Amino acid sequence: MSGKPDTKASAGERQDTASPAGAESGAQAAAGAIHLPAVHLILSDAACAPLIAEYGRVQTLEAARMLLAELRGMMLASRRDGMPPTGDTGIPAILAMLATRLRETNRSPLRPVFNLTGTVLHTNLGRALLPDSAVQAVAEALRWPMNLEWDIDTGKRGDRDNLIEDLLLELTGAEAATIVNNNAAAVLLMLNTIAQGKEVIVSRGELVEIGGAFRIPDIMTRAGAVLREVGSTNRTHLKDYAEAAGPQTALMMKVHCSNYAITGFTKSVELPELAPLSKKHNIPLAVDLGSGTLVDLEQYGLPHETTVRETIAGGADLVTFSGDKLLGGPQCGIIVGRADLIAQIKKNPLKRALRVGKLTLAALEPVLALYRAPDLLPGRLTTLKLLTRPAAHIRELAQALLLPLQAALGVGYEVSSEPMMSQIGSGALPVDQLPSHGLVVRAAAAGRISNALGILEQRLRALPLPVIGRVAQDALWLDLRCLDDHQRQRFTDQLALLAL
Ligand SMILES: *Cc1c(COP(=O)(O)O)cnc(C)c1O
Repeated sequence: MSGKPDTKASAGERQDTASPAGAESGAQAAAGAIHLPAVHLILSDAACAPLIAEYGRVQTLEAARMLLAELRGMMLASRRDGMPPTGDTGIPAILAMLATRLRETNRSPLRPVFNLTGTVLHTNLGRALLPDSAVQAVAEALRWPMNLEWDIDTGKRGDRDNLIEDLLLELTGAEAATIVNNNAAAVLLMLNTIAQGKEVIVSRGELVEIGGAFRIPDIMTRAGAVLREVGSTNRTHLKDYAEAAGPQTALMMKVHCSNYAITGFTKSVELPELAPLSKKHNIPLAVDLGSGTLVDLEQYGLPHETTVRETIAGGADLVTFSGDKLLGGPQCGIIVGRADLIAQIKKNPLKRALRVGKLTLAALEPVLALYRAPDLLPGRLTTLKLLTRPAAHIRELAQALLLPLQAALGVGYEVSSEPMMSQIGSGALPVDQLPSHGLVVRAAAAGRISNALGILEQRLRALPLPVIGRVAQDALWLDLRCLDDHQRQRFTDQLALLAL
C-alpha cells in the first residue's frame, strides 16, 4: 500500500485528504497527533475492492467517513480523559470494522428465526409456513406477467377472485367466494356492505378482541354498522336474538371465540338453532370463523374445529376466515356464502382497497389444491405436518440435540430433554394443547449468575438465525415441534457461536 493519493478518488474523497493520514491539521498537531488513515487511502486499498463491488462506492465512502469521524471522536475523548488510545487504527483494522458495519446496515430487518416457542401458528412470527408448491408459485408470479385479471379463454378482462373461486366453492359447498387482505378486512368489508347504518345482532359472549387491536365492537363502528348486543357474557338464548330482530336489523352475526373459552354456567345459541330464526325474519346470518379450517382435523388425531363446510351447511349465509391460520396458506381473508350477498360485497368500493395482490393468489391456489387430497394433507401441508408431528419423533430430536446444546452453553446451564405441550396458536382451539417434547435450560445451581436466563435468551437471539423460546418457571423452554428435520443442521451448526 503506497501513500500516494488514489488518482481515481472522487472530489469528495479528496476533501478528506487534508486531515489525518499523517498530515495533521494545525490544531490536532498542537494537541498531539490523532493517527488515522485518510479516507482515500482506505477506499483505494485492495482489500476495500470487494466492499465497493458489493455495496457501491457511494455507500462505502459514506460509511468510511462516518467510521473515521467516530474513531476520531473516541480518540479525542480518551485523550481528554487522560486515557491511553485504544484499538488498532491501521487500514486493515479499519477495513474490518467497515466491512462489519456495511454488512449490518445492509442486513434485512426481516429475518428468518427458529420458532421454538411451541406455538405453531405464531402471529408475531408470521403464522403459517407454506409448502414448496406455493413457494414456487410465488417465485414464478414474481418473475412473470400473470393472467391476474385476464381470462385466457376469452381474451377478455377477468376478475382476480375467479382464479380461486371454483376451488373454494368445491371445498366449502358455498355458492360464491371473494378474497381480501386478511380476515379483519373480510369482517370489515362484510359489515360495511351488508349493515352500514343498520343493526347487527351479536351475543355479548362473542364480542371478542383478537390480538393487534381487532375488536368486534370497534370494527363494527368503523364499518358504519350499529352493534346490537344481546344476552350476557356467559349466557345468550335464542329469544334474545328473536327480541332484538326487527326492520332495523341488517345482520345476525356469530363470532368464533378464538382466543378464550367461557366455561361453567354457559349457554350460547348454535347455528342449527339460530339459522331458522334468521330465515324467518329474512335477516342474513354471518359467522366469523377466525381460523376456519377446510377439513375435519379429527381424522389426523387433532381436536375438532368446526369447518367452513359445516358452517355453510349449518345455515350461515356468509362465513369469513383467515388464510394463514389453520388453512396453512398466505395472509388473506376469505368470504364465502350466498351468491347475492357476495355479489354486493364485490361491488363495494372498499373491496378495491382491500383486495389481494398476485403473490397472495399465487400462494393460495396451490395450498387450496392440496385439500383435494385430504388423506395426503399431513405429508404436504406444512402447517398440518407440524401440528401432527408425533411427540415420539420430537423426543428423538430433543435427545439428539441435548448434548450439542449443553456443550455450547457450558457449565453455567443445565439442559434436559422433557415433555411439554405445544399450542396451535392464532386463536385456533385455545384450550387444546398438543403433546410435544423439547429442551429445557435452567441456570446451573452452582455458581449461579444473576439473570442467567435473560442472558441466555439474549445470546440465542443474537445468533445469525435467532432462536426464540419461551421462559416459564425459571427455565427456558425450547419446544422442538417446529424445528424441521431439514433445519436441524443449521440449528446445530450455529451452536458453536453460542460458546463464543
Ligand atoms: C384471527 C381472527 C380475526 C382476524 O383475522 P386476521 O386474518 O388476523 O386479520 C378475526 N376474527 C377472528 C374470530 C379471528 O380468530
